[in-house]
Amino acid sequence: MSGKRSIRIGTVVIGRGNPIAVQSMAASKTTDIDATVETVNRLEQAGAAIVRLAVDTERDVRALPEIRRQTHVSLSIDLQENYRLAEKAAPYIDKIRYNPGHLHHAEPNTPWREKVRRLAEIAKDHDLAIRVGINCGSIDPVHLKAYKAARAAAKKGNVPDPFAPILESALEHTAWLDEIGFTRYCVSIKDSNPETVILVNRRFADLRPEVPIHLGVTEAGLPAYGIPKSRYALETLLSEGIGDTLRVSLTVPNNHKQEEVEAGRMILANVAAGRMMKESEFSLPKLNIVSCPSCARVQNSAFVALAEEVQKATEFAADVPLKIAVMGCRVNGPGETDDADFGLWCGADKVNFKEGEKLIGSYPYGEIVPVLVLKLKERIKSA
Ligand code: SF4
Repeated sequence: MSGKRSIRIGTVVIGRGNPIAVQSMAASKTTDIDATVETVNRLEQAGAAIVRLAVDTERDVRALPEIRRQTHVSLSIDLQENYRLAEKAAPYIDKIRYNPGHLHHAEPNTPWREKVRRLAEIAKDHDLAIRVGINCGSIDPVHLKAYKAARAAAKKGNVPDPFAPILESALEHTAWLDEIGFTRYCVSIKDSNPETVILVNRRFADLRPEVPIHLGVTEAGLPAYGIPKSRYALETLLSEGIGDTLRVSLTVPNNHKQEEVEAGRMILANVAAGRMMKESEFSLPKLNIVSCPSCARVQNSAFVALAEEVQKATEFAADVPLKIAVMGCRVNGPGETDDADFGLWCGADKVNFKEGEKLIGSYPYGEIVPVLVLKLKERIKSA
């Protein structure tokens, strides 16, 4: 195992040779207590050791005591833009996940180190673990410019290390947590490309071998895409002894979320049996459709159906080397579609459509797919 440290997350211990814990995330609204309790318990029954919930508002926080009362599995909360909710949520959870790329949204004039110190104090006071969750689609603004420049240059083949800015983000956050005396944390560095996940996690494990690692391919997509991508990245890393907990992110409706846990368990079984997917057995689809797994933040439940519709409607272009990103909400949608040739990110009533980083317009759910297909055909014709 990569983590020489072990950390406890509620009743689960990861790192230092402990079993690799499978995680998942509820996609029900946290404020819908019955649905969330049902989801959490269903995920636990499927084999999840840790279940994450999205907490964005005071109303979400108010739902936590009852969710905690009716569930037993270790609970993690995902704080995207509002780290200030951590204190109120802390008595009812076991872990806080923060994303360095989102910490700047609230109190932009407060240095990130102060915010992390506050989170670490809350974690200490309430017996919680922390995950530093770095995502290549929502990089800390301090590193974003360097990251974009490095990726753009790498596409032209002239930058030796396009991942240095993401690693730098992980290293500075872990160094700071260590400096302030908080070591009960793990780190995830996720991207939608499994090759990137492999390379960057190898580098991090090499530099910080004592830190437990949470593995995952972000926006892996619909099961037909997401399972092979996750298998390739996670089976490769786990077989090298890298990774202490994992999540397979799949674009499935909330009542199918247990499929993430089943896929995670299959990956562990494959590694245990020596059946890892080899590099020669995996290739990214030429037309690469990435889509988020959805969570409580998804603004329209039509999102999963939209991702499926995009997949079917673009089958004619399966051999065209382009990337289409379909994202469920504004929290990660705008940033995580920047890298795609075409990006769709969902609002409550309309879907925002981008070509590269440029917003083309916003379209009703029933109209967006024909617009995408038209643009795709134009792109193919002009190539
Ligand atoms: S982009 Fe998807 S997974 Fe990410 S926060 Fe929004 S709905 Fe949740």
